[in-house]
Amino acid sequence: MAWTPEKPPIHGETPDTLAARLAEVGHPRYRAGQILDWVFKRRAESPAVMTNLPAALRDWLAATFDFEPTTVLGKRVATDVTQKLLQRLRDGSLIETVIIRAPMEGVGQDKSRRTICISTQVGCAFGCRFCASGLEGFKRNLSVGEIVCQLIQVCRVEDAVSPDRAAQGLASFDNIVVMGMGEPMANYDNLLAALRAVNAPWGLGFGARRITVSTSGVVPKILQLADEPLGLRLAISLHGATDEVRERIMPVNRKWPLAELLPACKAFARKHGRMLTLEYILIEEVNDGLDQAERLREIARDLHAHVNLIPYNTVEGLPWRRPSLTRQNRFADILRDAGVSVTLRREKGHDIEAACGQLRLQTEKALRLDAPPAA
Ligand code: SAH
Ligand code: SF4
Repeated sequence: MAWTPEKPPIHGETPDTLAARLAEVGHPRYRAGQILDWVFKRRAESPAVMTNLPAALRDWLAATFDFEPTTVLGKRVATDVTQKLLQRLRDGSLIETVIIRAPMEGVGQDKSRRTICISTQVGCAFGCRFCASGLEGFKRNLSVGEIVCQLIQVCRVEDAVSPDRAAQGLASFDNIVVMGMGEPMANYDNLLAALRAVNAPWGLGFGARRITVSTSGVVPKILQLADEPLGLRLAISLHGATDEVRERIMPVNRKWPLAELLPACKAFARKHGRMLTLEYILIEEVNDGLDQAERLREIARDLHAHVNLIPYNTVEGLPWRRPSLTRQNRFADILRDAGVSVTLRREKGHDIEAACGQLRLQTEKALRLDAPPAA
């Protein structure tokens, strides 16, 4: 469903598009760089603070662009490692952005690594059986400006923690994972435009190698991403090592079965020359059998991929459970013993994944608790 905002977000502009708009109304093109500097590096919330611009230009900006396409409704510290920002879009839709801290011994908060988990859609159309994001269906894609502003909002919050980075106009986080609500590959063009801006020197100058895009397996887009010069990292939500098991929980597998998905992953890895990640949620009696572990071992070896095992987080209203610790370890050992690079998330990971993979339900709950629905 398309949705058109009253005013386009300033965060969706590039130096070229903005310069063209400025020229149309008789302002010098070079102002575009100054304006985007305010937006990205100084996190300006309105043209009023842009003191190096003439008043007439500030008025035009305020009348022409939206400077707050996303607004923070609330902050919640979910656990010791995760913090969530509940953000409202102009049409009243809610998204959550998660800040995950990797605490390190003996260093202050400002030095701990921060990973930001962002959303690309409101809801998700892919309907994976275990996932909260898809439970209430798909509403719409986020625009370029909404995706960018989502990240600038995080900077505004985290700048207080790392004022030195803020002073240099750098992002106040270390990694971005596109693992929030939505299927990133189904909003490919907007996501890529947003990440190009985040990466650009005129944007946040944020390294593409510190950005990971996670997909449930949209083969044509994996191949397209492999050809992008940007150099983003890729994670595949595998969750089943055979078509039979994968199909039970992920409808996407009917469209792009493993015989198509795995060669696409291989092509991506070959073009990029770096390891991709296979995400594998462990769900009791569904995909945690030894046959699956053995098959996954072969897939990972063939792709030279890292395997991220994630014990399933229970979602209210869904029947799935995580396996016992013994079963989790047995599964991991089959991979590990064959020399596959594997991580099995422990309790902290539980929180992290809960934060990343189950945004929709929590968001809706938060809406009911925190704020009346927008009219
Ligand atoms: N649509 C993309 C990215 C968002 S989902 C994708 O599917 O990859 C991000 C990750 O969270 C995916 O690996 C997803 O399978 C996982 N996830 C979803 N629900 C989960 C749950 N209840 N417990 C653990 N991980 C979950
Ligand atoms: Fe969508 Fe990813 Fe959830 Fe599947 S796991 S429903 S693709 S968000």
